[in-house]
Formats: sequence, C-alpha cells, structure tokens
Amino acid sequence: MIPWTVTLTRVRGIEIKVHATFVLILIWAAYYWGADTDAGARGIAFGVVATLLLFLCVTLHELGHAIMAQHYGIEVRDITLLPIGGVARLEVPENPKQELWIALAGPAVNVVIAALLIAVGAALQATSVVSPGNLVDSMRDAEWNGLLPYLTLANLYLVVFNAIPAFPLDGGRVLRALLAMRMDYRRATAIAVSIGHGSALLLGLLGFATANFFLIVIAIFVWFGASGEGQQVAVNSVLGGATVGQVMIRQPQVLFPTDPLSRAVGLTLSTAQSDFPVIDGNERVVGLLTMDDLLRGLQETPGSPVGTVMHRQFPTAHPDEAIVDVQARLAESRLRAIPIVAADGRLDGFLTAGDIGEAFRILSVRPQIIARGPATTNR
Ligand SMILES: [Zn+2]
Repeated sequence: MIPWTVTLTRVRGIEIKVHATFVLILIWAAYYWGADTDAGARGIAFGVVATLLLFLCVTLHELGHAIMAQHYGIEVRDITLLPIGGVARLEVPENPKQELWIALAGPAVNVVIAALLIAVGAALQATSVVSPGNLVDSMRDAEWNGLLPYLTLANLYLVVFNAIPAFPLDGGRVLRALLAMRMDYRRATAIAVSIGHGSALLLGLLGFATANFFLIVIAIFVWFGASGEGQQVAVNSVLGGATVGQVMIRQPQVLFPTDPLSRAVGLTLSTAQSDFPVIDGNERVVGLLTMDDLLRGLQETPGSPVGTVMHRQFPTAHPDEAIVDVQARLAESRLRAIPIVAADGRLDGFLTAGDIGEAFRILSVRPQIIARGPATTNR
C-alpha cells in the first residue's frame, strides 16, 4: 500500500483512500479564495467546499475506470486521492480494446456530470457556462452561485486535460490502445511513451511560461509516468511467462525463531543471502528476517532471538506464480525477498529482488532459455 494514506470508504470492494498531502490542496484553496481575495471567512469556506466537490468528481472519474475494469474481470485494488488528482490502481490489460474502454470510462463520467450540471444550471437560470468571463469574476469573489459553473467548468477541464496523449493520463492509454490495435504491443507502447515525454516537456514549458506551479508538477509526474509505463511493459515482455519456481533459490538458508541473532550474522557473512525465511519445526514459514531487522535487533536487543525482531507480516508466493506478479507484490511490500510456499504450506524456496534482476538480464539476452525449465531439478 502507499504509505501516508487514510481509507475514507469502500465502493464495490474498492478502497477509496486519501493521501496526507491532500491537506495541502485544501490549505491552498482556503488561501486562494480566503486570504488572497477580500472575501475572508466566506472565501475560505468557498475554497474548501469547491475543492472537496471537485475531488468528489475526480473520485467518480476514477470509479468510472475502476467499474469498467471490474466489468472485464480486472481486479481494482484501490483509488488514492492526491493533491494533483486521483489514481486507481488496477492491472492494465494487454488487451487494447479493454484498455481503450477502461481509459474512456473515466472522462465519460465527467462528461455526464458536466451535462447534468449544465442542465441544473439552465433550470435554475444560474450563471451561464457560456460566459466564462463573468464566471471567473464570480469565482474570484467566492460567490456561492459561482459554485455550479465552477464545477461544470472543472469537469470539462478534467475531460480536456485527460485528452492529452501522455501516460499516465487517459489520453496516453487511449493512444497506446489505438496504436496496439494496428501494431505490436511493445512498439505501440514505445511510441506512446515518446509522445508522452514530448507532451510532458510541452506541459512543463507551458507551466514555466505561465508561472503555473501545478502544471510543472504535473509535467514531472507525466514524464516519470510515461517512463514507468514503458519499463513495466519491457519487463513484462521479457519476464513473460517465467514462473517463480524457475528462478527461486531452492534450498535457502533458514532460521528458527529461537536462533540467536549471531547465527543470522554468521549466515549473512558466509552466504550470498542477507534476508532469511524463518520456519518452525514443521517447516512452515512463520517470519522473515531482513537485513534491517537484523541490524535493528543487534542495536537494540542484541541478546534476543530471531523471533523477537523478525517480520511477522510479509507476503508469500507460490512456485507456479508468474514472476511479474510476484515482483509487483515485492515492490509494494518494500521488501527485497519473499518466501515461496508450497501447496501444503511448507517452505519451498526463496525469491529475492536480485534473483529477479538476474532472470531479467538473462532473458533479455536469451528469451527462451529459462522458459524451457530449470537447469537442475531435484525432483
Ligand atoms: Zn482517468
């Protein structure tokens, strides 16, 4: 999970979370409409309410993606609200048609919201969206009747902004999906990543030209988002169908909870391992001792056994799982190694980030070499 987040609610099994830095955007809004205009307390209230409603629309946008993904049977882990927008964490399908519809579902929600708000505005004869000049004035005055047009414009802005063809914005996904319908997925991604980098540069320059700090932050976010997307596709296509069982350490050094820390020190220095699965008398995994646990133990409680300093909460994997899936789990847990557990619950092996790196380097050179199966099996 992303650190520094709080879960707000749960919709269709999807956790809606908010990041601690989200408070910054509320403070900024309170300042922008409060201290910076002469509206005072009313301005502060307007800024906070307008921003909360805007992020409600952002959440609905992300739910649009999430529910479309669920429709295709794709698991959605959570939606996190950040000051620069929302992020729905879901497995991006390597199916262009599905990716296209999932990408379009988010902005479609904002189109619907904008249409509803325009209809409500027309019915109430509120400030017309057709005259943005008046709107900007009424917004700066923090007039409550400016709220409706503000939200209408904000939703239209979300649609236009997401049309920029750059990962991780929806436009980037739409572009990749459209390209992937005509060419190889990797090549489509490479082109989309280049266009993403170009768009990020333009966005950043525009940010500097207009002294818009948000645009610059978003440009940086888009640049690294595009790079990350490209790398992930490269890794997935190289590691492809390789399974954990093919690259894991088959007979790792293990520790027992009652072992003294000095035994872990000895193993760390005399073997290639620096993290260890901890097992009980029945070979069941009960813990994971990382290098950090060991160092902390040596510093704080040098006389205590392994069981008191090891991780008790940690992910595990099965030998027949795809490496790319386990790698994601490992990255998320921020650990460098994961115990591999057989169907009967006993320790079967150990997989480290280093093993995955080795497999990636070997498979980059000889794509078929591991897919044929492990060189030595003791079965
Ligand atoms: Zn989106």
